[in-house]
Amino acid sequence: MADTSNSISLKAMVDKASNQIIFVESDSDFIDVIFSFLTIPMGNLIRLAPNQSILGIGCMNKLYSSVKNMDVKHLQTEACKDMLLSPRSVAESQCKNLKVKIDKDEATQFFMCSHNRVDCKLSYCKFDSCASCGGSINKEKNLLVTDGGVFVKGLSRLIISDDLKVIPPLTAAGLPLCAKFGVMDGNATEEVTINVGVDEVLNLLMRSIASKTPLTESLLKSKPRLKFCNKNQRIHTEPQMAKDNTLSEGTISIRPIVSKSKKMVCYAEAGEGFVNLLLSFLNIPLGFIVKHMGNCSSQGCIDQLYKSVQDLDDQYILSSYHKEMLLTPKLVPGFCYENHLLGTEEATYYYAGSTGFLSTDKALLATRTAQATKSIRSYCSQESALTSIRPIAVRDPKANHHEHKSAQAQGYLKGPAMFTVTDDLDIRPVSLILGLSLLNKLEVPLTDIEVQTVQVHKEEALHLLVASFLGDSALTDTFVRKPEQNKRIKQEQ
Ligand SMILES: [Zn+2]
Repeated sequence: MADTSNSISLKAMVDKASNQIIFVESDSDFIDVIFSFLTIPMGNLIRLAPNQSILGIGCMNKLYSSVKNMDVKHLQTEACKDMLLSPRSVAESQCKNLKVKIDKDEATQFFMCSHNRVDCKLSYCKFDSCASCGGSINKEKNLLVTDGGVFVKGLSRLIISDDLKVIPPLTAAGLPLCAKFGVMDGNATEEVTINVGVDEVLNLLMRSIASKTPLTESLLKSKPRLKFCNKNQRIHTEPQMAKDNTLSEGTISIRPIVSKSKKMVCYAEAGEGFVNLLLSFLNIPLGFIVKHMGNCSSQGCIDQLYKSVQDLDDQYILSSYHKEMLLTPKLVPGFCYENHLLGTEEATYYYAGSTGFLSTDKALLATRTAQATKSIRSYCSQESALTSIRPIAVRDPKANHHEHKSAQAQGYLKGPAMFTVTDDLDIRPVSLILGLSLLNKLEVPLTDIEVQTVQVHKEEALHLLVASFLGDSALTDTFVRKPEQNKRIKQEQ
């Protein structure tokens, strides 16, 4: 990669005998890149995964191809498919400043109507008429981009261990790491300069999910190909999540077809509510999943990366808003739906009527609005410019606006509809023939099956999300296997 505008130069301390990276030392450019992993929605992660690793990431890739192969007639709007296969990220305007960008670098387009009354909405596409004022929605808008900086402060220098522990250099935290590898012995270690470009970052992203030594594997040459084998992991969600069933009014019921002897879900029959929940996983940022993984370990060290952000002293992070964006990533407005069992939150767009600026970062919007009005106007009008900042709603991209101008959709799918969902989350329209062929393939006789009815609450929804990221039998993990049984399976291996 000769183009240095899209690459980062790193200093790495390498153990010569094992050819392993002990740590790399870096400024904010590289830290921002790895921190940004937590903001990537699952759908984009699958889309970006190089062919060699597409077999992995639990059931998410099956889910992704189910959407890809789904007939658009099942979806509320054509936009729904794009929303799931190429989801927008709330961190988009921050990630514009990344030194190495792994995803397409197009700005999200927004449109507003010309009247721009308080109740007029923002839209992701052009429309003939605004539901509130009737004006046409054709005024283009872009999000504010910060002057520089993404998540960490510009001059921060930090060290990153092979398993993505991020620590300040030359502290009590860093020295044990050096002692472990005998860094003081100049013959055993060497300093290597590494150029990190798009390929290396993509590789690092994938390996951070699958390996405990992602830096070595992605940045040092001639390392083995990435292998995923994520069967039978012990999966459980945090207990505090489990108690939170009272809030979710709309629970969903599904019918798992269970093999009594194999103690597994062969497949399940479910309505659009359950499938909407599954499809929404593609919109969920990686950091949200890691947050809910609790103590169940992933094969990779993405959970270590998450912990590093949590533990990193606030002096290194731009603001609490940025920290929050990494630790509790939100969804882009309009991408969620009501009664969503996972309890994900949507971000809010703020709009400054006086300057026409738009951002999810209210503080940034206020600063820029003040700057823009300071030079030319009096203090008084600067005040009024700041008071013109208001949250602005988004026209639901999932709803069919040709039928109802201000429609809100309950998910991505048209209902009522029934689907067959396999244990690894292949989703197709319900069919008896399909069900029978699935049983046939699994060699489960009809005498061995039991048709159950189970309720999906918030606890099950979160478990399902984590299970579909970590393993390839999400339904069995969630609805049949108890944690004790998982433990037993692990011991048998
Ligand atoms: Zn309007």
